[in-house]
Amino acid sequence: MNEHAGRLARAQAVMKREGIDALCVSVGSDLPYLTGYRAMPLERVTMLIVPADGHPELVVPGLEAPRVEVRDDAFTVTGWAESDDPIGIIDGLLGDVGTVAFGDETWSRFLLELQAINTARSFVPASEFMAGLRMVKSPDEIAALRRAAKTVDGVVDEMAGVRFSGRTERDVSREIIDRTISAGHDTMEFWIVASGPNGASPHHEPGERVIEPGDAVVVDFGGHQDGYSSDTTRMFVVGEAPYGFDDAFTVLYEAQSAAVDAVRPGVTAASLDAVARDIISEAGYGDLFIHRLGHGIGMDTHEHPYLIEGNDQVIEAGMAFSIEPGIYNPGEWGMRIEDIVVATGDGVERLNTSDRAYRVVS
Ligand code: ZN
Ligand code: ZN
Repeated sequence: MNEHAGRLARAQAVMKREGIDALCVSVGSDLPYLTGYRAMPLERVTMLIVPADGHPELVVPGLEAPRVEVRDDAFTVTGWAESDDPIGIIDGLLGDVGTVAFGDETWSRFLLELQAINTARSFVPASEFMAGLRMVKSPDEIAALRRAAKTVDGVVDEMAGVRFSGRTERDVSREIIDRTISAGHDTMEFWIVASGPNGASPHHEPGERVIEPGDAVVVDFGGHQDGYSSDTTRMFVVGEAPYGFDDAFTVLYEAQSAAVDAVRPGVTAASLDAVARDIISEAGYGDLFIHRLGHGIGMDTHEHPYLIEGNDQVIEAGMAFSIEPGIYNPGEWGMRIEDIVVATGDGVERLNTSDRAYRVVS
């Protein structure tokens, strides 16, 4: 049985247990997770229909069908012609099912049309259901995440030897993009270079600010390699660190290390957030740590589990997520350290292994 047939069988087993009669997924990562095929986000509908019992069917625009790698043991492919009514085809395949779990990223238009045709079905979000399947990674998935992490770690090390001062954030971010693609990434998703006071905005868009001596620079970037995501943040300081930076960085480093060390099966997502937050708060910076500790990562850069207060999700071996506390001092500087980690049978593996101390650059 191939990997995707196995995942589809696992989905069907969970559907039976949870009383879901059919699963519909379209654009986004749920579809390639289950079939190996990533649909173009087109107005022409693509839909995988997985009945709790029976053979899954992938409905695709006829002109896209040649891109689907046929896996007859996993699912069959139905191509629809330009003059066909694809929603009618999907409705027919669903038949008289009662409860349909519907993919989060599927266009609402397709859902509304299906609901209008048949009001007897109830639709529920597929998010939790799919998160349950996707959160625990297989050894192959972890290997892919490890390769993606290694690529960005290499770029971090290269950037440590690069001049920052006198260049715009945008110029430095372009260099990061070029280096990461050259090193093996297929696509980039984000490329934050936030210098000086811009560092206090966690998702700053790199712009025309010219980096100066005395700036702390937040560098947070990632993309995709072989279908899996990377995401790392390291700090660069141009010459002398700004006032107050070193004291805060010592605290941040300790908080990030302690949270990574606390990862093991059985702890909750919320408890990991608390480990870092308590250290930062006790040092007096609690109000400046303005976001959750981290997010799951896999085919998507942000996916379950989310490491945030109130999330009682229990960490299991194979879950992969970021540990990324930050301290943001408005108008002055910001800082963040981010690693992707995987919970192992008895602890944790850090996938990003580049030096977490800040790099002094010219
Ligand atoms: Zn990041
Ligand atoms: Zn992240």
